[in-house]
Amino acid sequence: MTDEFTTQIYYEDDVDESYLEDTTVAVLGYGSQGHAHALNMKESGVDVLVGLREDSSSREAAEAEGLEVGTPAEVAAKAQLISVLVPDTIQAAVYDEIEPHLEDGDTLQFAHGLNIHYNQIQPPAHVDVTMVAPKSPGHLVRRNYENGEGTPGLLAVYQDTTGEATQRALAYAKAIGCARAGVLETTFQEEVETDLFGEQVVLCGGVTSLVKQGYETLVDAGYSPEAAYFECMNELKLIVDLMYEGGLMEMWNSVSDTAEYGGLTRGDRVVDEHARENMEEILEEIQNGDFAREWILENQAGRPGYTQIRQAEQDHEIEEVGERLRSLFSWSEEATEDDAAEVPADD
Ligand code: NAD
Ligand code: MG
Repeated sequence: MTDEFTTQIYYEDDVDESYLEDTTVAVLGYGSQGHAHALNMKESGVDVLVGLREDSSSREAAEAEGLEVGTPAEVAAKAQLISVLVPDTIQAAVYDEIEPHLEDGDTLQFAHGLNIHYNQIQPPAHVDVTMVAPKSPGHLVRRNYENGEGTPGLLAVYQDTTGEATQRALAYAKAIGCARAGVLETTFQEEVETDLFGEQVVLCGGVTSLVKQGYETLVDAGYSPEAAYFECMNELKLIVDLMYEGGLMEMWNSVSDTAEYGGLTRGDRVVDEHARENMEEILEEIQNGDFAREWILENQAGRPGYTQIRQAEQDHEIEEVGERLRSLFSWSEEATEDDAAEVPADD
């Protein structure tokens, strides 16, 4: 533990793995996170079962790794800790199947707090409810573990019936490798609201809109789509890598003085006070539950709006230009194959 940060951070020495010693863990789902948690825990000596539908295409992959597979209800009945790693939009339905098997003192665990925070799952008072959320896609959680490294993670306790919820969640975090890198304490509310905000405003929504608007501005002004693609999309990775490695100054120090001066004087004109007001509005919709309600209804209606907006994104000219240009690079093909090989097929 360290007091240099405002948040409590746990490392391997803070964890007592005996909290999982007599525990059977059921991992529901064998996708991005599910396969990584199940395999890492198995190799850490934890007794793991995997819960999948009878007709799941992931069954074979899990069994090929020597994991015992059953339906969610079957494995939940045998386990004392149930880790819910099916997609967020079907968790409530899968929860209905396992609820009858939640016994006194069991743990219901998540890797994202959405369904608990917005009351789509309402667990009984006699179980612990915790979260261990690796801050990275599952294939990296797996790869890091195999390389003897860790993936930073978040830990939160929503309901502590046993008085041991934190220790058990920490033991789980250690078993999947997160404690090697550091486990940050948070709450379900903070994890959900900051996660939604980050993906909507900066990471997924903000960045793609910035790229498209920049691209369109250049193409509309008569520049070639290829030049626009390289400037507004391709080079983004180099910039982000520098910020990831060494922060904003590492990036500014690595680009030319012209780029630094132009960027520092123009950036805030692009993402200006209007953008800031929009960010605050979006945060408000997350906090008051409007976004969650919209998304739940969208799913109940069969995703009509989502399907449409997704198609429009796919049809954007930058996608076609990018596909042609990327095929000129041999590395891009290798990278895709490499990544695809490590994530089991979804079903
Ligand atoms: P995913 O879509 O990769 O995998 C879900 C898996 O669930 C499928 O592969 C399948 O094996 C299984 N599944 C699907 N329908 C099922 C059903 N009806 N019954 C039983 N099993 C079924 O999901 P994911 O991205 O690993 O997300 C799992 C959880 O982890 C979510 O709560 C998500 O928010 C969280 N999370 C994901 C990431 C990430 O990078 N992917 C990171 C942190 C947290
Ligand atoms: Mg996220």
